[in-house]
Amino acid sequence: MVRQGPTHPTGGVDYPRTMQEFDRWFPNEEACASYLVKLRWPDGFVCPSCGGTKEWMTARGQRRCATCQRQTSVVAGTLFEGTRKPLRLWFQAAWYVTSQKFGGNALGLQRVLGLGSYQTAWTWLHKLRNAMVRPDRECLSGRVEVDETYVGGQEAGVSGRFTEQKAVVAVAVEVHQPKGFGRARLRRVPDVSAASLVGFVEDVVAPGSTILTDGWKSYDSLPQHGYPREKIVLASSGDPAHVALPGVHRVASLLKRWLLGTHQGAVSNKHLDYYLDEFTFRFNRRASRARGLLFYRLLQQAVQTEPLRYRQIVDRSHSPFDLTGQPPARERSG
Ligand SMILES: [Zn+2]
Repeated sequence: MVRQGPTHPTGGVDYPRTMQEFDRWFPNEEACASYLVKLRWPDGFVCPSCGGTKEWMTARGQRRCATCQRQTSVVAGTLFEGTRKPLRLWFQAAWYVTSQKFGGNALGLQRVLGLGSYQTAWTWLHKLRNAMVRPDRECLSGRVEVDETYVGGQEAGVSGRFTEQKAVVAVAVEVHQPKGFGRARLRRVPDVSAASLVGFVEDVVAPGSTILTDGWKSYDSLPQHGYPREKIVLASSGDPAHVALPGVHRVASLLKRWLLGTHQGAVSNKHLDYYLDEFTFRFNRRASRARGLLFYRLLQQAVQTEPLRYRQIVDRSHSPFDLTGQPPARERSG
């Protein structure tokens, strides 16, 4: 997909920097719609049907393609398609989740926007999370740590790789030389088999990148798939404070802290993927000091993201390995 908009958006020019600026920029629906027009068609209108670039505005504010005559609007085919709520409310929701360091939960969003139902707030957050990572699919490269971590499902006495209740999350993190970490990718996988883990690597890491792993045998076939592997194995007599894969360790502990803190640890395995999307979005933009830039990126991706229906969200668990299968009643109580 072609990247849209300015490569280096500027605060105060391309996005609001403060709540006061936000209010000034987006006083009404027209202002929100024209902001989306700039994000979706930075170089001018492009017909989603035929690619034509000439348009007419109809009396009802719709756009009609001069080439194929199809009528469209700036929200058609995006996350906002079919919404009955004002765009301004959506903008406020996007601002709410991006302006806070750790995002927000559905109860918080419902309260801040005065939404009538918890379910609406919950659905909106999932739609926004879906836009956070979906179009953002550039592969990791260079030296990349890969490992699995276990999330959720308090299960006394079970540890190690063979667990029943916890979700297995594969984590990949770019390692910079001499120090520091780059981007990360996380995905729930059904198990720790070679098919799952090497499949994950193939999906998120560019071929030829060096993969750093522990001694787990499922990673043995990485070289056959075009990934040189560096096995990091700590001697059992080694310093217990030393961490073999510090990048993965760091990401996994941030993830767990975030799920326990912002989301009270009440995320079901079934919906974990959405939370991983949001976490990844935040982690990969952690160096950006302007929160408004996250707002900009989120809306930019929202207009490139196909609509997601409530049923699709609820049914997202397309996997036989889902263990909870609970409906999205509440992610936290109280
Ligand atoms: Zn057209």
